[in-house]
Amino acid sequence: MLRKRTILLVTVCMLLVSCSGEEQTAHNEAFAMDTFVTVTANGKNAGSAAELAIERIRELEGIWSVTDSGSDIYRINHEGSGEVHEETAELIDFSVGISAASQGAFDITLYPILREWGFTGEEYKIPDDRRISELLLNTGSEKISVQDMTVTVPENMQLDLGAVGKGAAGDIAAECLRNNGIDSALLNLGGSITAIGTKPGGESWKIGVRSPFGEENAAVITASDCSVVTSGAYERYFIGEDGKIYGHILDPETGRPAESDLASATVVGSSGRLCDALSTALFVMGSEKAEKFRQERDDFEMLLITNDGGIIITEELAAHTEIAEGFDENVRIIYPAQADAG
Ligand code: ADP
Ligand code: MG
Repeated sequence: MLRKRTILLVTVCMLLVSCSGEEQTAHNEAFAMDTFVTVTANGKNAGSAAELAIERIRELEGIWSVTDSGSDIYRINHEGSGEVHEETAELIDFSVGISAASQGAFDITLYPILREWGFTGEEYKIPDDRRISELLLNTGSEKISVQDMTVTVPENMQLDLGAVGKGAAGDIAAECLRNNGIDSALLNLGGSITAIGTKPGGESWKIGVRSPFGEENAAVITASDCSVVTSGAYERYFIGEDGKIYGHILDPETGRPAESDLASATVVGSSGRLCDALSTALFVMGSEKAEKFRQERDDFEMLLITNDGGIIITEELAAHTEIAEGFDENVRIIYPAQADAG
């Protein structure tokens, strides 16, 4: 959900200039892509670089927003087809690929169903089964066509890059910082984190993974040059009249909030958009399918928190993660798939 609240877009800009010549630490905050964004950058011209990165994020919000009538996504959703910016064509193409790879667990065509549940506004409701079945006929990322810069969708299909946009924006903003000479920075787009290099002293960044059950951290990941993205139903949900919790991540197969054994899924890797897309996909899959999926590809690390508070973590990531008290009793480490002997 990339809603644009232009009026609320207050950018707080603090520039803390340290004493060592031109070396600076800049900390910029903004409200963009429907979430809080912070950019902390270190180095020469950190202040102007951080500002450019935030500007870049706003540009992407402008082309990926579902509600802004000037955006690429709005045009596709209302006209069925349109020429889009290169970043949009690339991201849609990438998303279609992840949808196929995840066997449909990730799907950017759910917007009409999300709206029906009220997840695009604030008035939540439980749609009736018939309405969901009807809307499901017009979903499926494999029906999207991307030809150069032209994106076309079938009638009644609408796209939403909410599950991948923040990660992708993190990648592009990080590239912007690097192009401006920054080799130490931390970007946080509403919990979607991208780390460039290390802290100024050479020490790795420490990135907390929030507990899905409270305010505290369930784990702390020590990382440099990577993205860390978490998906969980606890971020946006409503409680129905039946007392049940309905989360904003849908199972594309049922059109209903995903109900797996997972409370959250965290993905760590070198690409923010991959981490973002996969954290959503793994959350939908649940632990068993997520583990199988991970055995088939090794381009990411994951930390899954189950509804009963257990942790499932890949071996490589476990070596860089400190698990908090209360979560450290039920930890299972996933080892790479064994090559068949003989
Ligand atoms: P967040 O953006 O809140 O951190 P996610 O990255 O998991 O969390 O994205 C969730 C958003 O993506 C939802 O709010 C909705 O707009 C959209 N969405 C919901 N279910 C799916 C799905 N199965 N695949 C792709 N996008 C989804
Ligand atoms: Mg996501």
